[in-house]
Amino acid sequence: MSKSKLPLVGIFGGTFDPIHYGHLRVAEEIIEAIGLQKMYFIPAGVPPLRHAPITSPQHRAEIVRIAIQDNSRFVLDEREINRGGISYSIDSLYELKQELGKKIVLCFVIGVDAFIKLDEWNNWHELFNLCHFIIAARPGHVLTSNHDVLPKELKDECSRRWVSSVDSLRNTTSGLIFVVPTTMLDISATVIRARIAAGKSVRYLIPDAALNHIAASQLYI
Ligand code: ATP
Repeated sequence: MSKSKLPLVGIFGGTFDPIHYGHLRVAEEIIEAIGLQKMYFIPAGVPPLRHAPITSPQHRAEIVRIAIQDNSRFVLDEREINRGGISYSIDSLYELKQELGKKIVLCFVIGVDAFIKLDEWNNWHELFNLCHFIIAARPGHVLTSNHDVLPKELKDECSRRWVSSVDSLRNTTSGLIFVVPTTMLDISATVIRARIAAGKSVRYLIPDAALNHIAASQLYI
């Protein structure tokens, strides 16, 4: 499994209802921190572990497309919407491995809040055979140095996987966990939806062009 200097790509899954600067800044900083070639944004069609999104998958994907259009490393990947059914990350990772080739290293980007619940994901042990995890900081959620915040089975699974050097990520194709101390932006889609519904401004929380699409389509009101 060990190879020298393999290329890395980022996989950023989410409901993106809607995408916001919290996501975009995390993606930008992780690209820079670990030298990713691309960041694939994959909006879930039907997220498995939460209430149904307020907005249709097509609108959520369109907002992502508009929000990332100025960044040549950002890519919209609509496979989970097109696949239909419940959107499991494991299915997308299997497909991407097939398509991009075994020598590309998939780096799954995830906020601390979501990583803490990884043991609720479908086939979660197997995810470590397909990708590395790159954990982003998120206000209100702390990954303590002893990792006691993780449920026991997840903590045990992770125990031999933590690495602190980017080079380690390039030397093996999957199974490692790397934490990036990204800028803490206390932005959530929940707050954005609530503010729009209340007629309040969300300017500077999401890109203007994305906001124009939301307003023109009368979303979240
Ligand atoms: P909601 O408020 O609807 O739950 P959200 O803002 O958490 O949405 P998601 O699309 O559910 O956004 O998140 C997708 C991924 O992005 C998750 O891994 C989540 O941890 C991460 N993420 C979302 N917002 C931030 C943020 N402000 N900082 C760091 N990571 C974030």
